[in-house]
Amino acid sequence: MVYNASSINGSINLETGRHLIASKWRQDGKSQRDIISPVSGLRIGTIPLGEISHVNEAVSSARVASNRFKQSSRQDRARYLRRVADRIEARRQSLVHLLTLEQGKPITQANAELDISLSALNLSAEYASTVTPNGVTLTNPLKRAFVELRPRGVYGVITPWNAPAAVPVCYYLGPGFAAGNAIIWVPAPSTSLISTQLAECFLEADPPVEGILNLVIGEGSEVGDALVAHEGVDALAFTGSTKTGNAIASRAGAKPLALELGGNGPTIIFNDADIERAAQCSAAAAFANAGQICTATERVLVHEDVYDEFVVLATGQAKATRLGDPFDVNTTLGPLHNEDTAKKVDSHIADAVQKGGRIVHGGQRAVGYPTDLYYQPTVVVDVAPYSLLNCEETFGPVIPILPFKDDSMLRTLVGKSRYGLFGSVFTKSISQAMRCAADLRVGVVNINEMSAYWEPGMPGAGASGSLSGTGRFGVEQSILGMSDHVTITMDLN
Ligand code: NAD
Repeated sequence: MVYNASSINGSINLETGRHLIASKWRQDGKSQRDIISPVSGLRIGTIPLGEISHVNEAVSSARVASNRFKQSSRQDRARYLRRVADRIEARRQSLVHLLTLEQGKPITQANAELDISLSALNLSAEYASTVTPNGVTLTNPLKRAFVELRPRGVYGVITPWNAPAAVPVCYYLGPGFAAGNAIIWVPAPSTSLISTQLAECFLEADPPVEGILNLVIGEGSEVGDALVAHEGVDALAFTGSTKTGNAIASRAGAKPLALELGGNGPTIIFNDADIERAAQCSAAAAFANAGQICTATERVLVHEDVYDEFVVLATGQAKATRLGDPFDVNTTLGPLHNEDTAKKVDSHIADAVQKGGRIVHGGQRAVGYPTDLYYQPTVVVDVAPYSLLNCEETFGPVIPILPFKDDSMLRTLVGKSRYGLFGSVFTKSISQAMRCAADLRVGVVNINEMSAYWEPGMPGAGASGSLSGTGRFGVEQSILGMSDHVTITMDLN
């Protein structure tokens, strides 16, 4: 692979992660950690690892800010969010560069991540002024009532590394400020450089009240845990793995808590589907961000009549996927973000093979790349129903394919996984699509579209009873979720 030296080595001005606490940038911590790029294996910067004292200070600052920010007009909040969008757009080139360097996704996908973040900020600005709570109907003719939306106050927000701009901005920062909250943000340590640059954009945009955004960098088990347990935090929002989400739920006590967790959505292909489109969409959602998306193609269940045709087309898609330098605009697959994820992908593929699955393309780490994190685009067929690839979230560039012959078998295969986030159905029959959608226990069903299709106006959530979480995302839902709904009644006597 030929690397564009100016994009990787040439422009390494070592970046520094910083906390933002009480509107002051700080670099102190119990220790400093190097950030190593998954793209090059080189050190690209340093972050401080904060401690409980940083969280305590951030909560105090956010409390003061929250008391003033509550009084701000919705229009002021909207204008602020538009200014933030302008700042992000003005710094697009360096943000996109850092997003690719630190997280590993191809530059075109980093650009798309900024686009969706900007779109969410603009939508949050729009909804800041227009979102309205439900009306109230009373039985008593001499009473009147209405519901008022109020900021929840001091919000603790914890986010993962896989979409380190889009998840915080679309789910929490845009909607949270639109709702009038002060926010303490703990990002994943390994993407804290991009978090610092995003926080700079929020600060440069002249917040209506000082201190409404506090950024605390550090290990989740220390600063994240301190935030969750802090009695000065009024509400919490978390996106990340189901394992951490469960730990947070047990520490959060009675605080309002939104959890956006893992996924293992099925892509279902019936025998009347446009198989070529189904293969394209399945590959797009399996290989984008190297499969590290909660809504990725995690498993493809294909009707036996079109199974062989689909396998050929999906394999063709994998062959056409360009693994390589993520700074090259023609690259469609970059490295995985970290070794733990790569090991998980290794183990899920080995498990599938051991249970009878066959690798028809890829299946291992690619050699000759600057790090061990470049993974071949992989297609595994005849995956056994009880394989980890079918039952668990893999989070890698893999298309696992399983055949089904009727609705009953399909239901059994789908039911092997306890996740319930997104799903996708390919068929030309409207009634078949709607029947299947009605059957899926997920938060979003995309029909004749890849499972990862999402835009910030779309409500989404993990289905109840699944391992995928309890929150609702989508800008309007997030604003409503990040608000208290206060009912006020009036007596006419
Ligand atoms: P993770 O659970 O390991 O970490 C997420 C965040 O939690 C990080 O900031 C981490 O530092 C912090 N953390 C870790 N331990 C903590 C603790 N004890 N207390 C408080 N915070 C703690 O997840 P990850 O590997 O960063 O992210 C990948 C996961 O996120 C995948 O499972 C993916 O499906 C999920 N995800 C879900 C959505 C969604 O919308 N449902 C979106 C993106 C990612």
